[in-house]
Amino acid sequence: MRLTQIKLAGFKSFVDPTTLSLASNLTSVVGPNGCGKSNVIDAVRWVTGESSARQLRGEALEDVIFNGSNARKPVGRASVELRFDNSEGKLGGQYGAFAEISVRRELTREGGSKYFINNTRARRRDVVDLFLGTGLGGRSNYAVIEQGAVNRLIEAKPEDMRQVLEEAAGISKYKERRRETENR
Ligand code: ATP
Ligand code: MG
Repeated sequence: MRLTQIKLAGFKSFVDPTTLSLASNLTSVVGPNGCGKSNVIDAVRWVTGESSARQLRGEALEDVIFNGSNARKPVGRASVELRFDNSEGKLGGQYGAFAEISVRRELTREGGSKYFINNTRARRRDVVDLFLGTGLGGRSNYAVIEQGAVNRLIEAKPEDMRQVLEEAAGISKYKERRRETENR
């Protein structure tokens, strides 16, 4: 599974439709202060189901929608789509057979979030489930390595370290399913 494309519109500073193509397995985002590097990372977190505004560096969920600048008026809607090469079938479940998978999240100021997998309406849970065990999304989210992440991992409490290892080992998916079954 490889993230090949990020499409943003109305998301934070990316007011105009923007397509970022990721050509290789390891991608760095570089640029001057304030140019929007962290916003790209926030976008990836957001699509994979992040529901805490604070984790997205805002106060309310609507804060991800472009809220205007000196030259531009605010817009009413944010949309981000991630495209994955899934030719190895790593993104599994009912989507395992698709060589390409797109996941999109949209938000308007009036309504809640809408999620789409391959352009079909999905629940947040379906999206979270899709990424469980891949290292992207969820609580450990180690596929995105932010400033300070390595230090945080070195200094992590044993429980938090364990969570990362379980995600990498592919165990977290089954633990999550067990938790769901037990809570039913
Ligand atoms: P640094 O190198 O300092 O970490 P960065 O490249 O990570 O910078 P970001 O934090 O991604 O920069 O982007 C910050 C910019 O995004 C700021 O100019 C901020 O005003 C803008 N921004 C954030 N949220 C919104 C929003 N909802 N609407 C418009 N602009 C926004
Ligand atoms: Mg930053």
